[in-house]
Amino acid sequence: MEDIQSIKSWKVINDVPFAIAGPCSAETEEQLYTTCKGIKAQDITMLRAGIWKPRTRPGTFEGVGEIGLEWMEKVKTELEMPAAVEVANAKHVELALKYNMDVLWIGARSTVNPFTVQEIADALKGVDIPVIVKNPINPDLALWKGAIERIYMSGIKQIAALHRGFSSFEKTKYRNVPMWQIAIALKSDMPNLPLLCDPSHIAGTRDLILPVSQKAIDLNYDGLMIETHYDPDKALSDAKQQVTPHRLGEILEAIKIRQTTSDNQEFNSILETMRNQIDNIDREILESMAARKSLVDKLGEYKKENNVTVFQSNRWLEVFKTRAEWGSQLNLQKEFVGKLFKLIHDESIRLQSKILNNDKEKVSK
Ligand code: PEP
Ligand code: MN
Repeated sequence: MEDIQSIKSWKVINDVPFAIAGPCSAETEEQLYTTCKGIKAQDITMLRAGIWKPRTRPGTFEGVGEIGLEWMEKVKTELEMPAAVEVANAKHVELALKYNMDVLWIGARSTVNPFTVQEIADALKGVDIPVIVKNPINPDLALWKGAIERIYMSGIKQIAALHRGFSSFEKTKYRNVPMWQIAIALKSDMPNLPLLCDPSHIAGTRDLILPVSQKAIDLNYDGLMIETHYDPDKALSDAKQQVTPHRLGEILEAIKIRQTTSDNQEFNSILETMRNQIDNIDREILESMAARKSLVDKLGEYKKENNVTVFQSNRWLEVFKTRAEWGSQLNLQKEFVGKLFKLIHDESIRLQSKILNNDKEKVSK
């Protein structure tokens, strides 16, 4: 997928990072126009609006449908701004194209379903329009990649991924928990793929939109999609997370944009020294791991000779407890140390099981 095009090739984008803003849903012609006019006064590249709303429970506002596209076409023509809408089936694609939308996006509830994504991909064959693929609602990297691949295979080369957080059963301060590492993993598999963030659906509340946006920009995201409504409290969907155009302007103003590189010689030389130190430490970590592994191998042989099981739960509990304590004394986060030792311990068990079961395969593999 090397020929996925950079976001700068999208004719509707002239600079990065950029922002897409607009209401969660188009509600009335007046609401859409007033909101978008307010947005135009801010530094916004593209408008958005939901036309068909995928609501979790029935009986709530489900979008205005085709008429919303008619309003959006008028608004975007009058304000001279490009517009993006969500599509969830072939008919939506056909209508979005009929009303000259500039960008399409696939929502989180559609990305989870390969049938839906394939239907959209088939409807896009031979069409030249950028498509944004939101992450699926569950933290499944393969599903997200699969949706991107389906769109790519339909011939679309202008694709961006959009991180909107993942749903979880536990209550958290976020509506959808951001999992920055999943987006980073996606980016390392598909390095050309532009990456956007939707802080509104991650946050769920207005006060978290700025910190989430800042985090995305610090991670070098190419753009943000922020839900905006001229009177958010009266919004028919996602009222708590929508901001006024004025607040949108303040948020964008407050975001600090940092460079990925610097021309400052001194900075670059200090950076290089620090990176060399980190390289050395990483090497030491791996050497320690290798030393640990040879002890684990010996331990495996010893357990085998004495006919003792690989896993002893009291030992595991002790390892887990003491390492967390040692870590806290060293100012390391308990959760991080826990995860690290779970990984190390799982590997020890895997190696020892091979020894105990006399695997023909070499243990180090
Ligand atoms: C939306 O952007 O309005 C939307 C429905 O988002 P998501 O698919 O991320 O839930
Ligand atoms: Mn919404």
